[in-house]
Amino acid sequence: MPKIAFIGTGGTIASIGSGPFDLLDYNASDERVNARAILDRTGLGAAIGEIVPIDFRQIDSTAISQADWADLAELCWQLSADATFNGIVIGHGTASLEETAWLLSLVLDLKVPVVLTGSMRPLTGLSSDAGANLAAAVNVAAAAHRSGDYGVFVVLNDEIHSPRAVTKAHTLRLNAFRSPGTGPVGAVDGQIVRFIRQELPGKAPVFARDLLRRLARVDIAYSYIGADGCAIKAFVDAGARGIISAGFGPGVGTPAEIEALAEAVEAGVVVVQSSRTGAGQVVDSANHRRLGIIPGNDLSPQKARILLALCLARGDSPDEIRSIFQSV
Ligand code: ASP
Repeated sequence: MPKIAFIGTGGTIASIGSGPFDLLDYNASDERVNARAILDRTGLGAAIGEIVPIDFRQIDSTAISQADWADLAELCWQLSADATFNGIVIGHGTASLEETAWLLSLVLDLKVPVVLTGSMRPLTGLSSDAGANLAAAVNVAAAAHRSGDYGVFVVLNDEIHSPRAVTKAHTLRLNAFRSPGTGPVGAVDGQIVRFIRQELPGKAPVFARDLLRRLARVDIAYSYIGADGCAIKAFVDAGARGIISAGFGPGVGTPAEIEALAEAVEAGVVVVQSSRTGAGQVVDSANHRRLGIIPGNDLSPQKARILLALCLARGDSPDEIRSIFQSV
């Protein structure tokens, strides 16, 4: 039997609605239970492994702070020091799950796999996916440990995703988690876990965990017709050390935004250009090179934000940041 640590952080997988038909507005109760109660309610206690509940937070994932991230990374690191654990499963709200998964993949280098899961329907809802997703996550953690694959994974709806590619692509459906352009890295059918491909181009850099205690302020400016650069100027005034431009399709803002971004670079702010499209590369362009704007590869704006905040906290130069974004 695998021995898996199960960290509860809250989210829908921990949420108590007003009854089985409360599938949409269950946050109204503001009631979320801890890891032990999730195991009790799903009946997963010892069914497919020795699952050890670890209490952490019972919050909505929209409320996760940088301090929570730092504490969670620290907790994973501490648990991994207990050689009896074969893996760590984290129950997490789906709203920001992809951000926490990506962040952990950038700061953890453990000898156990870490699997994040959540649910689209509350623990108490009719046909809740809470128990099924948790069971799948435990099975993936056990299988990844057996094959010596100690990365960070996201498991929902019987699919295994990489933290780099995965995104929540639907507000409500059970298949909300997708990896646009690449697809999942594997699938789970009960205890049969199949990894179908390796994440390319390879492992992202590993940053020191203590950087999470002093992440730099990085904001995201979202492009739309008529965007006049006002948000970008406000971010600079607020002390942003980095700005992610979530630009139009190819990765470009309006003329007024480009002007404001160029001024930000002049003022010493590091600007990374990503795209609001949800998939595909932002390639380097002569214009961006001339202005000192760094192409964001195929990272979503929210994931580019995390990578840039870590780079800035570490004190990387713009040239170093450019090459990290190119190689990640
Ligand atoms: N509101 C929830 C959260 O904590 C959404 C979810 O978990 O599905 O992110």
